[in-house]
Amino acid sequence: MLNPAIGLLGGTFDPIHIGHLRPAIEAQQALSLAEIRLIPNHIPPHRANPFCSSEQRLAMVRLAAAENPGFVVDERELRRERPSYTIETLIELRSELPDTPLCFLMGMDSLLSLPSWHRWQALLDHAHLVVSGRPGWQPDYPAPVAELLARHQTRDPGALHQRLAGHIWLADNLPIHLSATALRELLAKGQDPRYLLPASVAHYIDQQGLYRASAKIPLASPTQPGRK
Ligand code: ATP
Repeated sequence: MLNPAIGLLGGTFDPIHIGHLRPAIEAQQALSLAEIRLIPNHIPPHRANPFCSSEQRLAMVRLAAAENPGFVVDERELRRERPSYTIETLIELRSELPDTPLCFLMGMDSLLSLPSWHRWQALLDHAHLVVSGRPGWQPDYPAPVAELLARHQTRDPGALHQRLAGHIWLADNLPIHLSATALRELLAKGQDPRYLLPASVAHYIDQQGLYRASAKIPLASPTQPGRK
């Protein structure tokens, strides 16, 4: 008998925003997930991004989790000395939670780039993938992703509780047209970020003086950190 499935959401969270939180809440409800685990990425210190320290990103993720029942923070990637591959984190979680189906949540942009992730074909040995639509990324799948979907896609949310791993479920979520990059640009212009992120996180950003143009930080965000 398996435990109820849980959701995992990895990200830079620089800062965490409604584009992360709304799809996670909707997946939590649609799939009756027992928990949503937010897993902030480790970023090498020499990178220009993120603009905040790991501690500040973690503080913001903790504030967001505190407002959302069932959300918890998993600090394992931040505690490592090097960037983690998602596959390594999933293998670790699988050994800690041998009877719990794991649902790795991601946006459509991440699904489209999946073939560039380290050992991407092994991800489904350890977790299901739950993919949220994201404005700007159409489901025009490259051939390897189309093949993966042909083998693993399910339309039955209940199926994710019946197996530990191996299904892909495409969520019918409310599209949220927001990225951390756009949010940082808005903050750098001194604009009010209300309703784009939790009020507690907006307050923290203000108190800490984060993302201000005066901090002389580059606005352009490179692609995801090289850790997938
Ligand atoms: P940046 O703009 O700095 O690249 P981001 O907003 O894309 O950041 P990440 O922390 O890189 O945020 O994303 C973590 C996960 O959240 C990824 O799987 C990404 O696809 C997903 N995600 C981020 N924003 C959205 C959104 N608006 N809708 C759906 N999924 C999203």
